[in-house]
Amino acid sequence: MTDVWQYAPAPESRDIVNLRSEYGLFIDGEFVAPSAGGTFKTVDPATEEVLAAVAEADQTDVDLAVAAARRAQTEIWGPMPGTERAKYLYRLARVLQERSRELAVLETLDNGKPIKESRDVDVPLAAAHFFSYAGWADKLSYAGFGSAPQPLGVAGQIIPWNFPLLMAAWKLAPALATGNTCVLKPAETTPLSALALGDIFQQIDLPPGVVNIVTGAGETGQALVAHPDVDKIAFTGSTSVGKQIQRTLAGRHTRLTLELGGKAANVIFDDAPLDQAVEGIVNGIFFNQGHVCCAGSRLLVQESVLDSVLDKLKRRLGTLRVGDPLDKNTDLGAINSAEQLSRITELVDSGVQEGAERWQPACTLPDRGYWFAPTVFIGVSQSHRIAREEIFGPVLSVLTFRTPQEAITKANNTPYGLSAGVWTEKGSRILWMAQHLRAGVVWANTFNRFDPTSPFGGYKESGFGREGGRHGLAGYLTV
Ligand code: NDP
Repeated sequence: MTDVWQYAPAPESRDIVNLRSEYGLFIDGEFVAPSAGGTFKTVDPATEEVLAAVAEADQTDVDLAVAAARRAQTEIWGPMPGTERAKYLYRLARVLQERSRELAVLETLDNGKPIKESRDVDVPLAAAHFFSYAGWADKLSYAGFGSAPQPLGVAGQIIPWNFPLLMAAWKLAPALATGNTCVLKPAETTPLSALALGDIFQQIDLPPGVVNIVTGAGETGQALVAHPDVDKIAFTGSTSVGKQIQRTLAGRHTRLTLELGGKAANVIFDDAPLDQAVEGIVNGIFFNQGHVCCAGSRLLVQESVLDSVLDKLKRRLGTLRVGDPLDKNTDLGAINSAEQLSRITELVDSGVQEGAERWQPACTLPDRGYWFAPTVFIGVSQSHRIAREEIFGPVLSVLTFRTPQEAITKANNTPYGLSAGVWTEKGSRILWMAQHLRAGVVWANTFNRFDPTSPFGGYKESGFGREGGRHGLAGYLTV
């Protein structure tokens, strides 16, 4: 008989968060009511509790936000010396650290992700991005983009719901460091941490108009993309919306970077340290409920170790704790929305219909909220939809290979090219694989590791442009 560990509940208190019942738009340094008075509700996906009513920005509000950003760019932020801009970014990073517990709880409430991830990953990495780019603000002449690179002007930035605060940081930090001003459009289901940033901008006395936040649905994003006075659009989200944005911007001066979907291969060779690899597999696909563009959603296992890897993986998945995202012991939280849950369910059903074998550990899901048990598909072939399409949920498709060349052929057999993982003891094989994998990021003997100094971005339908590090400056400078 195996021992079963019992965990007492360890809930993080939500008292630290001061939720308002209504949130306005953040334009020109103030929270303002939307011009047409429209609002939408944001809910806690773990309980379906309505958290707040949030303003819906229309064309008039987007016009106001862009005008405020333009004024701030030409009059204050653009002419300001880099050393002064850096002070604001350092201040912002420090306040993120000071208010980290509050931000982590807020993010978990609005998104459904486990508190240990928002506390240990999202918030510290967001602060690290501002720290890192603060350091660049006065060194742009030495960054390799000519002696006097100039900001583009006003950046429109549209972010998804999977890492709301972190994606805001990825977008804002390089834009602000390079002297651009911003209009940020958070995702409809997760606007609260971006709005908390509005509070923080007031706290640090960021000049009005430097960052504006327009909440709303896809139409708000469309209005921002189509705005004639925006110089740059930075988008993270689905490939289909990325393509629409590209069509809208065709023939215009507006610069564009796109960070879109992925279907990453996580490749396990027979000489890999299998226990570590299993941890990497779990982190690769079950981190953040699999709502990760670079998730290792296709597991490629060398045939000779398949049985051993599956045994270890099943045993490990049996220990995952699914449930209350505010509990510090929770490994897998809630699915972000009913829409995303139905997308995952539809793709998983297709896997069963197309003949793959579905396996799930025994786990009890809460009665309320949006939940999906960790799922592994065995016997997946490359033609199955679950091997081709981004599921964006806690679902792993397992395929096999015999030779390194076959692993490369299968790994690259995707329209995407965002990330990949390789597990082996041989350094030469890691280098050979990294050279042949068509993926923007290749992790070796680890997965889903992020660092503000490291560039991140895709090939093919995963988008173009790089975020992070020195490379991330290029998207916001005339070079
Ligand atoms: P979207 O691409 O629709 O959303 C991303 C952001 O774009 C959101 O802020 C969204 O607003 C906004 N948006 C939506 N339509 C438009 C438009 N026409 N013009 C400008 N902005 C727009 O992703 P979804 O949330 O619908 O998720 C769908 C699928 O996309 C997921 O199942 C997943 O596969 C993939 N996805 C990939 C992500 C990644 O990081 N690669 C991130 C998120 C999703 P709003 O939220 O209000 O709709």
